[in-house]
Amino acid sequence: MKLEVVTIGTELLLGQIIDTNAAELGRALAGAGVEVVRRSSVADRPDAIRAAVAEALDRTGFVITTGGLGPTRDDMTKKEVAALFNKPLRLNADVLRALEERFRRLGRAMPAVNRTQAEVPDGATVLPNPRGTAPGLWVEDRGRVVVMLPGVPSEMRGLLADEVLPRLAQRSSGAGLVVRSRTVRTTGVAESALAERVGPIEDEIAPLTLAYLPSTDGVELRVTAWGLAADDAERRLAAAMAQLRERAGADGYGEDGTDLAAVVLALLRARNARLVVAESCTGGLVSGRITAVPGASDVFIGGVVAYDNVVKSGTLGVRPELLDKHGAVSEEVVRAMAEGMQRQFAVDAALAITGIAGPTGGTAEKPVGTVWLAARYGAEVRALKRIFPGDRGEIRARAAQAALDLLRRLIAGAP
Ligand code: ATP
Repeated sequence: MKLEVVTIGTELLLGQIIDTNAAELGRALAGAGVEVVRRSSVADRPDAIRAAVAEALDRTGFVITTGGLGPTRDDMTKKEVAALFNKPLRLNADVLRALEERFRRLGRAMPAVNRTQAEVPDGATVLPNPRGTAPGLWVEDRGRVVVMLPGVPSEMRGLLADEVLPRLAQRSSGAGLVVRSRTVRTTGVAESALAERVGPIEDEIAPLTLAYLPSTDGVELRVTAWGLAADDAERRLAAAMAQLRERAGADGYGEDGTDLAAVVLALLRARNARLVVAESCTGGLVSGRITAVPGASDVFIGGVVAYDNVVKSGTLGVRPELLDKHGAVSEEVVRAMAEGMQRQFAVDAALAITGIAGPTGGTAEKPVGTVWLAARYGAEVRALKRIFPGDRGEIRARAAQAALDLLRRLIAGAP
């Protein structure tokens, strides 16, 4: 089954809000075996809405819209779609009653403009929206369908799950085909190196497809089953995931939505170990990542943002001679930072990060992006120099991820 998505809102075109509705629709529909073949965004203008919906209907015959449904937008989408289908708008008594009831519950008088929300194109199916005032509408005529959903993301999501997906499943029952993906997350390995190792399995896992998705967190390996029966898709995905995990080896740290900070915390927790962090160029990013994970407090005791050398020596006990001789971004200093932190707080594990995030401060010997990392676990120590690409934000994000990964590999005894 195929359809098009039209998201409506001038703010979308101005870039004031990101079109999360389109992304969510794409994900949810793919999961239900429905293919979004095209999507477009238009301004809150009657002519623009009508043209976009009409063209999409001509091409694909099935359109889902979001936005422009409420009284603040003059119910624009509803009016244009009714006109396209040559249907008059009629007051729907059930919708009116639900609206009045909603206002009564909130203890407010219903403004007259809200009355228009109870008008629906003749013959349309009303999709009740308990989270807001504008209901969704499903208009169908001679095989052509337009489903109108509100723009507010939580209302859109609720209607999609409660009303739209079940109806779509009913229409395509018999086919019952799905599009599903799973992911192995890797870090600390270049995409090209990973492709050399993983590439050979692409033929074996067909018709599933493999995609490499690089980000500052590393490279994700995403395997996708297209248009298969649900149980067949799951079986093939599980087999492909086993192969991917094996090929990723020690560079793989988790699956699907797994966060590396949570992986590191779990490793430490299983060993009853506690962690401290000393951060220079990441300025607290690693501590932020760690404390974003629920339950971090039983492992993480805290961190120091040792930005200036005064803090590196005063608080972490890094000897000033080391700083003078080797500079703040050096193996000697990062090792001393981790050691000082571990000693002061008498904990099992420590991480330290010092680097040049740029855009200024680089030299020929230590260019922007140079970062030294150190991890300690008990008496074991690893130090690592990396030179990261990207702007300041990317270098800092990559440094935080690499620091967590260094500790993960040290604890797990991985190369
Ligand atoms: P109402 O007019 O009652 O507010 P509506 O259905 O007309 O609702 P819009 O006015 O278009 O919806 O959007 C309401 C809010 O929902 C917007 O201010 C915006 O924050 C958010 N929104 C709208 N469209 C999208 C979208 N495609 N992705 C993410 N957020 C959106």
